Amino acid sequence: MPASLRVNASRLQHHLDQLARIGALTTGGVCRLAFSEADRQGRDYIEARMRSLGLAVRIDRIGNILGTRRGTRSGPLVLTGSHVDTVGTAGRFDGSLGVIGALEVVETLNDAAVSTDHPVGVIAFANEEGARFMPDMMGSLVFRGDLQVGDARSRVDRDGVSVGEAIDRTGYAGTDDFTDVGVHAYLELHIEQGPILENANMTIGVVEAVQGLTWITFTLTGATAHAGATPIDMRRDAGYVAAAIVQYARTLSHEIESQRATVGLLSLSPNIVNVVAEHARLTVDLRNPDADRLAMAEERLHRFVAGAAAAERVTVSHTTDVRVPPVRFDPVVAGHVQDAATALGCRSMRMVSGAGHDAQILAAKFPAAMIFVPSRGGISHNVMEFTSTADLEAGANVLLHAALRLAG
Ligand SMILES: [Zn+2]
Repeated sequence: MPASLRVNASRLQHHLDQLARIGALTTGGVCRLAFSEADRQGRDYIEARMRSLGLAVRIDRIGNILGTRRGTRSGPLVLTGSHVDTVGTAGRFDGSLGVIGALEVVETLNDAAVSTDHPVGVIAFANEEGARFMPDMMGSLVFRGDLQVGDARSRVDRDGVSVGEAIDRTGYAGTDDFTDVGVHAYLELHIEQGPILENANMTIGVVEAVQGLTWITFTLTGATAHAGATPIDMRRDAGYVAAAIVQYARTLSHEIESQRATVGLLSLSPNIVNVVAEHARLTVDLRNPDADRLAMAEERLHRFVAGAAAAERVTVSHTTDVRVPPVRFDPVVAGHVQDAATALGCRSMRMVSGAGHDAQILAAKFPAAMIFVPSRGGISHNVMEFTSTADLEAGANVLLHAALRLAG
């Protein structure tokens, strides 16, 4: 194995800069909403680069672009990539790094005339963000076979435009499907989008899991009353119970390992200074990388809410709005990422992803893992998103060597 092989950092940065010019915002970030004209131009850039590197390019019916570099054996791919669609006010790195980084790995292999046993595939998944068309991770869901193309094409944006119409307009509705594509392992290089690596002064995150999440909306109903004339023990104060739930969310976060609990939405009615609140509506966002602990948090939350509401004689109803199970990445693939980082002398740590990624969709069917690099200030989905060239380079080198270990 050519252990001394390294990516070209200035070339990596150059191609990231070029891609960031497509859909560039005057504020410094980018906007390439899925299946928009800017997304089309971004895809053109990626496809042209795949062809210039000699990759065999295929496009499936939802617009996933796959470029394959031949191996000495035919067989399942060592697949790596991410997405080039963005949210409306995005930075330059989310998604783009994973695709540009994968292309840099291929160019490095080409330059050094390195052949691998397994073919290496580079993929740009369509509509990862879901900012225009739900669901997010649409391309990887279709790739995995869990979302039918016809169903995906029927989804509409806020203006009533369907995925089918939008993708046909871009010319990226391919004729292929990738049901014959075997995946030996999937690797995704991505910015962390959170503050953990920077705070720990680490360069590489070896991502072992993605948190599961549950979103619950509670509606509390008490009784309005005069704030001056009604004695405290005679009140049925929905706002008081809501505040107790906000407090309890923090308690849960301390009580259960790796638990995060957040009340991000809270509204009272009638919402008047001198009136006890009759109604409260609030959401609780629960996250944990462990399914059992996530279920425990949910159960404890419901028990607490029932008790707090009963004590105040407030009635409570709830809806469970979203439930996404946690994903564990493949320990062997994550081990190769760890070994590559160690061999390259990178400061690295094992971690859990706080955000969702294409890799978690693929992980249900194929061995997969992710590589994180730091996000300055933990800022992402924001034009201020920033990762230094040195960290980008380290991430791409870890991707290169993890891929080499997997591809043989
Ligand atoms: Zn992303």
